Amino acid sequence: MTKETVALIKCDTYDKILVEQAVKEAIDSLGGLSGKIVPGMTVFLKINLLMKKNPDDQVTTHPNVVAAVAKYIKGLGANVIVGDSPGGPFSERALKGVYDKCGITQMAQEEELTLNYDVSTKDVFFEGATILKKFTVVKAIYEADAVISMGKLKTHGMTAYTGAVKNLFGCIPGITKAEYHYRMPKLVDFSNMLVDVATFIKPVFSIVDAVYGMEGDGPSAGTPRKIGAIIAGFNPHAVDTVAISITNVDPLTICTVKRAQERDLFSGKVADIDIKGATIEQLLVKDFKQAKVHSTSLLKGHIPSIFKPLIPIVEKLMTTKPVINVPKCKGCRDCYNICPPNAIKMVDGKAEIDYSKCIKCFCCQEVCPHLAVIIEKSWLLRMVSK
Ligand code: SF4
Ligand code: SF4
Repeated sequence: MTKETVALIKCDTYDKILVEQAVKEAIDSLGGLSGKIVPGMTVFLKINLLMKKNPDDQVTTHPNVVAAVAKYIKGLGANVIVGDSPGGPFSERALKGVYDKCGITQMAQEEELTLNYDVSTKDVFFEGATILKKFTVVKAIYEADAVISMGKLKTHGMTAYTGAVKNLFGCIPGITKAEYHYRMPKLVDFSNMLVDVATFIKPVFSIVDAVYGMEGDGPSAGTPRKIGAIIAGFNPHAVDTVAISITNVDPLTICTVKRAQERDLFSGKVADIDIKGATIEQLLVKDFKQAKVHSTSLLKGHIPSIFKPLIPIVEKLMTTKPVINVPKCKGCRDCYNICPPNAIKMVDGKAEIDYSKCIKCFCCQEVCPHLAVIIEKSWLLRMVSK
């Protein structure tokens, strides 16, 4: 497997000038983008706009990082479109609300950028897919000459981590994402689907905003955490490998990195990356709080080898589940509307989960604007995690 190159540039503030310098340094250290992006091209910046959140909440790609990348791309003579398809309905109204709240509208006005309001979709066929041969994508992304993935480094209740690859799941329009969760409830299938989407979209470049990330109950209910980095490269799996490493996690324990390794897309090993800029050790966040997800690596580290045959049984007892914090629930129905198997009902103005239907996709936790969905570990997982 060929060695990949990834830029890991120190940047510990969202100061516009400093972010611009860091982004430029990252791209230039990789030899620039002029071989990939030529004048007249339309480049779609696929940012992470999970939900209506203030940039300081660190749930979404920061507008100053978007502005810096857009400026660089415009400097190459290309046209830039910025957008995402957040969790709920994919409509002009929903997009406007998210762009406004996330600071993207104001940034786009200042930088004279085009935001995507085209909500048409395109059904595509991908022969090379492992699991998802036919799927639906946002037409504006499909029709762009090039896509740049601009994720945010965060923990995630289902996939443990979200960065460059998981960000591309937002190329699937609105609630179609919930349908894919429902069709692929097993993590191995779901992560293969994420890798299928990333392989199909084939971003020309990937950047992860890790100036501030999110630890704990990400991707929306966790705690903002300063990491101080812009991470960028041509191979999104290698970019994720570096991003995950600085949170003190073995990248190969993350489902999308593991699937990429199985499919020879990248080894998932830092040793196979030529890192430009800072080193992993210089930016390592040793006490980064991980997501509360079920992890076989966690088990392997705690169970003596003679008990290894019992791992599949023990794993079944080491689960997590979404729980509604009833006093915090405002009855907005966002979780009810997104739940793929309709496992949530509204009772007396509060959400209630039917666990016999729940597929543990954690979409409810992802979209709850009031942080009223928490992830609860089983007693065994709590003991092993101590
Ligand atoms: S749990 Fe959250 S998303 Fe669901 S109804 Fe309550 S406040 Fe809304
Ligand atoms: S209750 Fe939450 S975790 Fe369970 S299936 Fe519905 S959205 Fe997914």
